[in-house]
Amino acid sequence: PQLANQIAAGEVVERPASVVKELVENSLDAGADHIDIDIEKGGSKLIRVRDNGSGIVEQELVLALSRHATSKIADLDDLEAINSLGFRGEALASISSVSRLTLTSRTAEQTAAWQASAAGRDMQVDIRPAAHPTGTSIEVLDLFFNTPARRKFLRTDKTEFGHIDELVKRLALSRYDVSWQLTHNGQSVRRLKAAVTAEQRQKRVATLCGRAFAEHAAFIENQYGDVKIWGWIVAPGACSAQLQCQYSYVNGRMMRDKLLNHAIRQAYADTLQPEQQPAFVLYLELDPRQVDVNVHPAKHEVRFHQARLIHDFVVSALTDALSQLTP
Ligand code: ADP
Ligand code: MG
Repeated sequence: PQLANQIAAGEVVERPASVVKELVENSLDAGADHIDIDIEKGGSKLIRVRDNGSGIVEQELVLALSRHATSKIADLDDLEAINSLGFRGEALASISSVSRLTLTSRTAEQTAAWQASAAGRDMQVDIRPAAHPTGTSIEVLDLFFNTPARRKFLRTDKTEFGHIDELVKRLALSRYDVSWQLTHNGQSVRRLKAAVTAEQRQKRVATLCGRAFAEHAAFIENQYGDVKIWGWIVAPGACSAQLQCQYSYVNGRMMRDKLLNHAIRQAYADTLQPEQQPAFVLYLELDPRQVDVNVHPAKHEVRFHQARLIHDFVVSALTDALSQLTP
């Protein structure tokens, strides 16, 4: 299985930031509201994600490190869906096949924690008792140590860490209720307390998008039927290189969705100078049955069932809001 896992890893694990993404998504799935991320040497030496989520029971530790995607694929009829779900249930197995991974976890019911790691060609999982509060820590050491061709593709520590920091920003803007910590080489880089009130949320946006963005951004909110858009946008006149900040989310998931981006650009189109970029943090919320989130494996793209309607709603909501901002 090591080889099969390494092949799967080719799809999931492009660089350290992709590992962080998979680990943090698991933490969020486990209901964590505190996530610590420690990075060393841009993630090539160490990636550690610690959460206070539900934890994993001892009997399931082996399963967590094994590929179990095939069982999920059995009930799918659509070939495209199979491709896009290709690595579902195999992120940990994949990461573990191209690094030295240890998983330490404890559920609230357990009195002790357990640690698991898989090694060798057969990816034999070894389990031993450990100390850990309720929740899970996953440590990924020496990413790509056994796949030199991939390791060679890693950029400088600074660049790789930049990708991780950018990812953490995007995640932190998607979950205000979670507190986050990020360190690099032992230095604290981000420390975000859970943001509950509107004021605290605004403060988080200011911290993550910079003072220039915070100064010029206006809060907007609009609804059409059960489709809702809210967030912060900057008036075209105030858009500049310094306050570049472009984040959009669909039902809480970070997206680089073509339709959404197109709608945002269209709303700004007439008013922006060619060298200006729109600046926004926007959340689109709609009935989850109206959107497929697994169009792309990296889960950045979605497919709206009523694409035209969503597009036009976003254009008109933003055009409205922008016209009120522009004196
Ligand atoms: P997937 O998330 O697609 O199920 P993964 O390989 O990412 O596959 O994770 C495998 C399984 O391990 C998860 O389904 C979950 O049960 C468990 N798991 C992984 N990380 C955590 C975590 N931080 N907290 C609790 N359970 C976890
Ligand atoms: Mg996962």
